Amino acid sequence: MKQSIHVVVWNEYRHERRSEEIAKIYPKGIHGAIADYLRTLPGMNVRTATLDEPEHGLTEEVLAETDVLIWWGHMAHGEVSDTVVDRVQASVLNGMGLIVLHSAHFSKIFKRLMGTTCNLKWREANERERLWVVDPSHPIAEGLGEYIEIPHAEMYGERFDIPQPDQLVFISWFQGGEVFRSGCCFYRGRGKIFYFRPGHETIPIYHQPDVLRVIGNAVRWAALPHGPTPTFGNVKPLEEF
Ligand code: ZN
Repeated sequence: MKQSIHVVVWNEYRHERRSEEIAKIYPKGIHGAIADYLRTLPGMNVRTATLDEPEHGLTEEVLAETDVLIWWGHMAHGEVSDTVVDRVQASVLNGMGLIVLHSAHFSKIFKRLMGTTCNLKWREANERERLWVVDPSHPIAEGLGEYIEIPHAEMYGERFDIPQPDQLVFISWFQGGEVFRSGCCFYRGRGKIFYFRPGHETIPIYHQPDVLRVIGNAVRWAALPHGPTPTFGNVKPLEEF
């Protein structure tokens, strides 16, 4: 039996190194803030990886021992190598969980796995957001109230150009009137994917306890056992006939 869930928190880690204001919010980077939280949970073995490391810190060896990969990116999606994207996609299809945060809706890996543009409406006006739990029995909603309120958020609005999610956990309302599918589950191959909207770099959203709780819940959900490894191709019959 597996002792712990192996998580990698990946961040492009550019905003925090270029802006003092952002570095003050995330002195150890966005990946550092999320990793620090996950390390407080039982049964989590947490490491981080960033864009500027060799192979973006996502070598074959690292991915082979990763149960769940968390992905945050914004300004440097185009710098992620296609080789690493191919590798992460193969890992997801083979059972690795993937949690895609906020502006990573435009990451190469999310677009690859969705097959759509993943485009959306947006506005930076520091407005209130409420993420309503629309699937209260879902493990990702464990321990939450009926909604999560974020006092100052960047707005993301529909239409969000993704395939119909396999499960929808949250729908966001924004003060300006838009709504958004802000917690979306997808199954791809043997892997599970969760897209979670909150997380703009200039707002301390990854210090908010209920937002962090969702990320921790999502790690557990995405890491759950995947059952037998299927085989493919031409086969002999199991019975004589
Ligand atoms: Zn943003």
